[in-house]
Amino acid sequence: MKKILLATKNVDKVREMRLVLNELPAEILSLADFADMPDAVEDGETFEDNALIKARFFRERTGLACLADDSGLEVDALGGMPGVHSARFAGYHADDATNNQKLLDELAKVGANESAAAYRCVLAFVDTDTEIITAGKILGTIKTVAQGTGGFGYDPYFYIDDARTMAQLSVAEKNLISHRGAALKDMILKLRGKFLTGG
Ligand code: IMP
Repeated sequence: MKKILLATKNVDKVREMRLVLNELPAEILSLADFADMPDAVEDGETFEDNALIKARFFRERTGLACLADDSGLEVDALGGMPGVHSARFAGYHADDATNNQKLLDELAKVGANESAAAYRCVLAFVDTDTEIITAGKILGTIKTVAQGTGGFGYDPYFYIDDARTMAQLSVAEKNLISHRGAALKDMILKLRGKFLTGG
């Protein structure tokens, strides 16, 4: 059976991606299956640049077909920040808690209690002679009151409607509407058509 390596060290992304990709006739591996794998240097200017950097980097090191995700939050009141810097918004050692505090601090600086926002995701699949890119986005509202304990990253502050945040959805519910879920569905269609049917 064809192997696909999820080229990310983010266990939350792996959980969401696996749930959708399990329907493919492929064995899904993650970087947790490899000891001491170095990090790719994500110095691209766009989500697409960084997704390709990661997929190509781990493809070269493992020889496996690789699928990488680059994603982030764009907040209108912050001029689209943190964007491609979402993972390191609060600095090199940032985690979800410090990134969310930075988000609240930046909103306070511009005097905003809430703002229109979007999550974006670009997926890059890289194998011999094959590169496939798909993308997804979801619009929502960032508010300064956290709700929910599910999801990851900025989810407790990302409102999908007046009452609920992304952190109040199950993984399956999040995949049905999320930026990553949309990019994954498109990727599955393209993989089935161009890659997995050929054996
Ligand atoms: P990347 O690993 O460089 O692609 O950075 C992704 C970052 O964007 C994550 O660390 C989160 O801060 C944020 N992000 C991406 N997708 C999501 C999501 O589905 N929920 C919450 N935050 C997300």
